[in-house]
Amino acid sequence: MRRQYDGIREEVLAAIARVCDSQSFILGPEVEALEREIAALTGAASAVGCASGTEALWLALVAAGVRPGDSVITTAFSFFASASAIVRAGATPVFVDVDPGTLNLDAALVGRHLRGRQLRTKRPENLCAILPVHLYGQCADMDRFDRIAQEFGVAIVEDAAQAIGAEWSGRGAGALGVTAAFSFYPTKNLSAYGDAGIVTTTCPRMAEHMRQLRNHGSPRRYYHDEFGWNGRMDAIQAAVLRVKLPHIADWNRNRQQHAATYDQLLAGAGLTSGLTSSQTSNQLAPVRLLARSPQAKHVFHQYVIRAQRRDELRKFLAERKIGSEIYYPLPLHLQPVFSYLGLKAGDMPVSEQAAREVLALPMFPELTAAEIRCVVESIADFYS
Ligand SMILES: *Cc1c(COP(=O)(O)O)cnc(C)c1O
Repeated sequence: MRRQYDGIREEVLAAIARVCDSQSFILGPEVEALEREIAALTGAASAVGCASGTEALWLALVAAGVRPGDSVITTAFSFFASASAIVRAGATPVFVDVDPGTLNLDAALVGRHLRGRQLRTKRPENLCAILPVHLYGQCADMDRFDRIAQEFGVAIVEDAAQAIGAEWSGRGAGALGVTAAFSFYPTKNLSAYGDAGIVTTTCPRMAEHMRQLRNHGSPRRYYHDEFGWNGRMDAIQAAVLRVKLPHIADWNRNRQQHAATYDQLLAGAGLTSGLTSSQTSNQLAPVRLLARSPQAKHVFHQYVIRAQRRDELRKFLAERKIGSEIYYPLPLHLQPVFSYLGLKAGDMPVSEQAAREVLALPMFPELTAAEIRCVVESIADFYS
């Protein structure tokens, strides 16, 4: 983040000064300009700026029609907000396990779940949405989710917090579901200097609804049609994001190059058995890569490996001053706050195994090939 700042410092400070001079701090022309630019980037019809990615998820769900008492299917292997936003909309999260290759929500399991549910209940209508997460910057299988949406009449809401600039079959993340939530948290691929988020939608009517919801449910000042909230974006964040936006394609391309370098060096060091899906890769290799969907343009928010003796490896890397992270150490269905759902260890075996094995290696656009080499050499030293 420091390296990125050094390259754009003058422009960022000028943009912040512009907002201060305008004395327009909440919403206003900077936010509106950002909304147009993000809509154009993603291919969605409209975008609605808001306070955070979490807020964006809530707006996306409510605009898509989620009401108290509904259920929403989502992945057991994501950041907490994917599920807590469902609860905040008054609905119940229904966790489904992930695909063992990509670790994205498993569309085949979702389909099976919906068919089983149709047989069991006369009222499947209270299941109104599916929330796939484009984990680590790779889109979930949107071909299959589109078919499921048509077959069962449910809305697809994307959690695209990690996936700005990602694509599925040439279509942008953010234009794949009826609504989609992005986060501009400071670690995300496109990041603000504070909290911010945006919702995109293919439906202009939903965009209007979300503009109202993020501003106290108020179509005009001091008149309230429904219970909204203060979920507005501030202008300084929009101005900073607009400085960065023209760079996002290059930054994502750098991330893809770094990922290719990692792939090559890990394979070259004999640590992986090459780029295959996890089912067919050599189970004895100390490191396994995640599967890459051929339809996906992956933007590598994270470069994640599955490692044997993961926690020891992480400690070893830390001793060499190499940072790594675990996204995520405890699947959502096992979080204490969701104990009311009555799920237990063993219910989502793929997510639970992933939580024991995943390790995110250093990944940011300004990373150098020498640094990547050093990371891979250190991993090789650990396993030798
Ligand atoms: C970051 C993130 C969020 C939440 O975004 P905030 O801006 O931190 O509120 C939601 N879902 C996923 C998958 C995320 O990575």
